[in-house]
Amino acid sequence: MTIEGSHLDPKDWDDFSRNMHELMDKCLARMKNASELPWQPNPDDIGERLSLSKKTIGVGSEQSFAHLCDDIMPYATGNTHPRFFGWVHGTGLPVCVGAELVAATMNSNCGGRDHGAIEVERATLDWLLDVSGLPENASAILTTGTSQATILALTAARNRQFGHDVRKTGIQALPKIAVYVRKGTHSCIGKALEVMGFGTDAIHVVDTDENMQMDIASLKRAVEEDKATGRVPLAIIGTAGSVNTGSFDQLHGIADFCAEHNIWFHVDAAFGFWVRLAEAPWQHLVAGMECANSISCDFHKWMSVPYDCGACMIYDRTLHFETFTSRPNYLEQQEEGLGGGDLWFCDYGLELSRGFRALKIWTAIKSIGTDAFSSSISDNCKQTALMAELVDASDLLTLAFPVSSNVCCFSVTHGDVNKIAAKLQLTGEAVFSTTIIKGSPCLRAAIVNHRTTSDDIRYAIVAVEKAVRDMM
Ligand SMILES: *Cc1c(COP(=O)(O)O)cnc(C)c1O
Repeated sequence: MTIEGSHLDPKDWDDFSRNMHELMDKCLARMKNASELPWQPNPDDIGERLSLSKKTIGVGSEQSFAHLCDDIMPYATGNTHPRFFGWVHGTGLPVCVGAELVAATMNSNCGGRDHGAIEVERATLDWLLDVSGLPENASAILTTGTSQATILALTAARNRQFGHDVRKTGIQALPKIAVYVRKGTHSCIGKALEVMGFGTDAIHVVDTDENMQMDIASLKRAVEEDKATGRVPLAIIGTAGSVNTGSFDQLHGIADFCAEHNIWFHVDAAFGFWVRLAEAPWQHLVAGMECANSISCDFHKWMSVPYDCGACMIYDRTLHFETFTSRPNYLEQQEEGLGGGDLWFCDYGLELSRGFRALKIWTAIKSIGTDAFSSSISDNCKQTALMAELVDASDLLTLAFPVSSNVCCFSVTHGDVNKIAAKLQLTGEAVFSTTIIKGSPCLRAAIVNHRTTSDDIRYAIVAVEKAVRDMM
């Protein structure tokens, strides 16, 4: 009997199959009962329960799966619960659990070569580009999230500006650059500039107007100022759905300005991208996004695809390819066989080895259909408007700004918002996050939750009012 090759697979497949089925039942039960399972704090001894050591001896799938169900699964982030409104966290989709099972079974490497998973990603990205409205020659790639997508987008902007030689010569001999963001732009822009070597000093913050949108007159002044001192305007960042207020910049206005001055237009549309699928009036919030040179967005937020998954879209496929392609001879493309294929995603991003992120998206769209996502996204906008109405009608709460999409912030007459948020989280009544708007501490709801109903909104506001009264 040969023993090589038998160390890591199950010793008894029948046994393993029973354990897997049992695990699946427990996962399904958890998803089915999601509305009774809010976030809960970790037990004090979680570290002990989970610790591993160099001497760890395998306990087999039955026991390890029991740990998954008892010591790990109950202590999730809580974003699967219908009254989770804190931060912008997607809710997850049961059908994607099936997709993840198949993806792990196939264990495909989506960096390149000629196999089915590449075709799934191609089909998924074609759908995405179709939704985006970008021109025919645009291309896209799936990423871990918007943070990574931003690095890809700004790298393409750099290469368009300075030529692909910059890949070899680096940024040291380049003139100083400037990247324009409005107040409230996500920190991932700064992080991208840090890792690219430009540093956050390259950021030029532009004022917002009374509608919380980038003020285009201020933008013009900022660009003129920099040009006069020899700084090269590298990119202007439009925000489609800002973190704090859910506001959308006037993308058409910025696009026109960028086109006129030949400056790269990037849209951070991490969650806001998806109002493109919503009904009017929300759909119009992203009018002009199709004129961008690059767009970043997340599937793990408003599309509810399980973590992690985002995308970077670039208007020019050739530029995208030439920014990242790098093939040593062991990666040379072959005429035929597994080493063939005309689309190697390692040519379009940072990763060589890549997971099969596309399958969970493809499965979600194939099984649920685009229309259901449209309805779900529109519902969230309506629910946020309802929340704003209830806040307006309350003597204890004050709306911080008019709601434009899916973010509602409000201050309270009594008590500390951080304490109120923590209390509601600990009782499992609702998860709000907190922020500061125009100097006022606020509770913040960012609703990207497909399980939320209007009753959940009413329940959550009643719970907040009670917590405020308790603080009196
Ligand atoms: C979440 C978010 C990001 C960062 O995206 P990740 O997927 O977390 O990397 C960037 N911009 C906005 C507006 C966001 O909401």
